[in-house]
Amino acid sequence: MSHTLFIADIHLCTEEPAITAGFLHFLRREAQHADALYILGDLFEAWIGDDDPNPLHAEVARALRQLTIPCYFIHGNRDFLLGKRFAAASGMRLLPEEQVLELYGKRVLIMHGDTLCTDDEGYQRFRRKVHNPWVQRLFLALPLFVRQRIARKMRAGSKAANSGKDIAIMDVNPQAVAEAMHRRNVPYLIHGHTHRPAVHQLEIDGHPAERLVLGAWHEQGSMIKVSADDIALIAFPF
Ligand code: MN
Repeated sequence: MSHTLFIADIHLCTEEPAITAGFLHFLRREAQHADALYILGDLFEAWIGDDDPNPLHAEVARALRQLTIPCYFIHGNRDFLLGKRFAAASGMRLLPEEQVLELYGKRVLIMHGDTLCTDDEGYQRFRRKVHNPWVQRLFLALPLFVRQRIARKMRAGSKAANSGKDIAIMDVNPQAVAEAMHRRNVPYLIHGHTHRPAVHQLEIDGHPAERLVLGAWHEQGSMIKVSADDIALIAFPF
């Protein structure tokens, strides 16, 4: 049965080998049988440039390249610096931050999801800064060890900032969701980022609509399977 798969928030890092193993197994056993795989951001826990010699990156690139189906990537808030070099090495095609797909007769909007969290003004300010192409160019021109130091500091700062934030502030804003779905004229939205896997029934412009949220890969995997028959959110063991 032909279908397309979506995943997000795998947060791959050297410190979590079980998640890496689960992801590599998912590519071979599950993704390989789909029509296409869409990775909706935060594939990696951190990304400071495609020139990072971390062996995990080469291992993941090799596994992705072995897929014989098309694989697409939308940046997350942690791996937003993932660039053309890694895309070429892995065979992933980089997509813009929002994309509308026509899949088996369904119009589906896909994104990472951080742009929907408009109540978190501190984060949105930070996002605008680090998405400035000049800021990115300057950062990537720094020596690797300096970038590593900055990234460590920023992660510690973001942890401290988030610990003081109301849980609701870090979820999506309902108006931002409705506005995005109305603007792109879609009955389906798939995103990750919030780590709150769920299928939300909505009404957009007087029509039934669905917002499907992918789960993060902590103790188990999470994927969304779109086929002609339905759209399903599925949790599975590694
Ligand atoms: Mn995220």
